[in-house]
Amino acid sequence: MSVRNRIEIIRGDITEVCVDAVVNAANSSLLGGGGVDGAIHRAAGGELYEACKLLNGCNTGEAKITLGYKLPVKYIIHTVGPIWAGGLTNEPELLAACYQNCFEIALKNNIQTIAFPNISTGIYGYPKKEAALIAKYEVEKILKAYTLFKKVIFVIFDDENYTIYSELFDLSVL
Ligand code: ADP
Repeated sequence: MSVRNRIEIIRGDITEVCVDAVVNAANSSLLGGGGVDGAIHRAAGGELYEACKLLNGCNTGEAKITLGYKLPVKYIIHTVGPIWAGGLTNEPELLAACYQNCFEIALKNNIQTIAFPNISTGIYGYPKKEAALIAKYEVEKILKAYTLFKKVIFVIFDDENYTIYSELFDLSVL
């Protein structure tokens, strides 16, 4: 299957998506927060919090894995996106590293279907178009390199990101 056919863009709540793993846009404590992180912790339940306490946090750009607990997924990959500070403190490289490190963990765990939220584009303030270009570039690069990955789903929650992703992936022609 072509790279494009292995990428899906859907609107909705990532806690309801059935895949091998969902990605959480966490903060460095890994102990829960607002936005998608809060939604994932609420839906996965207290066992997720207990598991995260054992991980000793996570640096920006890196990723760590837990089970999915009450979510309909086997795993949750927690990654910490950069906080946008004008773009001169390695934010693009760090955001790219989030995607790369999530896929590295996915490879190690035989995860073939994976769903991403729009990392860093909420509370962390990353400009949405720029973040989407990085997400697209990194996902296409990895799908070309590894046929193990059968499906990557961008789960989009807000209107602005949906408009951006619709244009970037030319949803109108599907
Ligand atoms: P960050 O701190 O990395 O910016 P946020 O959770 O604030 O993380 O926002 C990241 C993205 O997740 C935003 O685009 C936001 O619209 C989206 N989001 C919020 N809740 C959900 C959810 N339940 N499912 C999917 N995406 C969500």
